[in-house]
Amino acid sequence: MNKIFDRHYPMIIDGKPVDTDSVSEIRSPFDGELVGTCSLGTAEAVDAAVAAARAAFPAWSGLADEERAEFCQKIGSVFEAHAVELASLITREQGKPLVAGGFGSQFEVGGCIGWSMATSQLSLTEEVLPAGEGLSVVQRRVPKGVVGSITPWNWPLLIAVWHILPALRTGNCVVIKPSELTPLSTLRAVELLNETLPAGVLNVVTGDGLVGAALSGHPDIDKIIFTGSTATGKKVMHAAAENITDCSLELGGNDPAIILPGTPVEAIAPGLFFGAFINAGQTCGAIKRVYVPEADHDALVAALAELAQATVVGNGLDDGVAMGPVQNEAQYEKVRKLTQDALKSGASLAAGGEPVGNGFALRPAILGNCRQDMAIVTEEQFGPALPIVPYPNLEQAIEWANEGEFGLCASVWGGESAERENVANAINAGTVYINTHAELNPMVPFGGVKASGIGVQFGVEGLKSFTDSKVFYERANG
Ligand code: NDP
Repeated sequence: MNKIFDRHYPMIIDGKPVDTDSVSEIRSPFDGELVGTCSLGTAEAVDAAVAAARAAFPAWSGLADEERAEFCQKIGSVFEAHAVELASLITREQGKPLVAGGFGSQFEVGGCIGWSMATSQLSLTEEVLPAGEGLSVVQRRVPKGVVGSITPWNWPLLIAVWHILPALRTGNCVVIKPSELTPLSTLRAVELLNETLPAGVLNVVTGDGLVGAALSGHPDIDKIIFTGSTATGKKVMHAAAENITDCSLELGGNDPAIILPGTPVEAIAPGLFFGAFINAGQTCGAIKRVYVPEADHDALVAALAELAQATVVGNGLDDGVAMGPVQNEAQYEKVRKLTQDALKSGASLAAGGEPVGNGFALRPAILGNCRQDMAIVTEEQFGPALPIVPYPNLEQAIEWANEGEFGLCASVWGGESAERENVANAINAGTVYINTHAELNPMVPFGGVKASGIGVQFGVEGLKSFTDSKVFYERANG
């Protein structure tokens, strides 16, 4: 295996390594140790990458559908061959443990393999549409051209794959900008994939929000796909509007979980804990607030506290560690502040909340007796702290669950099936889970309503969003 840590990772533009004078050091969020370095890109690097993608587009879009499907499989094989290296890199730059009960960085790379293979199986066929006599109408899906992708720091490589694979599968070329906080796994993956893909088909530029802004406002981008905060999503949409560029936005979530009356709460506690603390809570579609009947509050809080106390938090490279650090200082401070504010306003700390080590690791906090007006309930904490809100009746729980700007996912737990169905129907979210949470599948559309985003990813519907509709009318001669 090549050296993974302490190496320099260049941008890849038109199949070649590209560097600038400005170098960024990427450090582990657990202990501050150097993971590697990369160049900081500029608006000029964005121009060069977009030009390379544009130049590669005619040949790439001209391939037969089966040829691009084969490339997607080859991409999956590259991830498979380099799984250990990529997982180690993700763990060091992002913080999530290698294993973490099956949902760490090895799972993230496994997801990259699975999504690549599944995307190779998806295909958009032409549709023959009803038309008048002597007239035939066919609708085909054609690639948009150059796709700009902007990704966040929580699942850096998996989200990159969610953007890149459907774009390439449908015949587009890509310029990706990873978060400046976690660029290395994407830089390495693009470097590896460029050994397989034609030059210019997949390019990566690094840099901060200004580079992201240069990409989303670029006049020669045909689609922008963005995953990150709602505040930045709005800026991306503004920039895209300037050129009437299509955009897909996967933004924040403040997912509610509603526990129905009469549910044996000890039995569902492990599922709730997993749904809330996957990736130390840094997942858009994780449970961010729990509504439980007043009578069941104490038992649920005790069961979740027991699970929190048993969770080993630490360096993700160490055996047995189930939860890593918060990825960055700003997010760490946000989680701590929201937790402290909740405690000052009357929440009770049943477990966790204290730092581990000298970096940004926190023990998972279980906060009982929370109220709907607390900031930790109304805002997206995006970290290892879970507010539990007792509710007086189900109508009130549904009303609270639907409050706020977000509508990504929600879950309903226990109770009778008719009651579950009624509650699930009453919740305004892109995905409603029943007796589970945070499940994803490459064949199933995923997206949010309200300020959680625009459009869906995955499945045939997700694939279509990387294409334009092109309709052919033909009138028979004579
Ligand atoms: P951002 O939304 O700022 O970052 C996401 C991506 O957008 C990064 O690549 C970032 O670059 C880039 N970016 C920043 N500014 C611009 C811009 N003006 N135009 C285009 N791209 C830009 O997330 P934060 O890191 O600030 O996290 C803040 C909050 O976002 C979190 O607390 C959490 O609530 C939410 N979040 C949601 C995620 C999700 O999966 N839906 C993922 C991550 C965060 P760079 O990092 O280099 O600045």
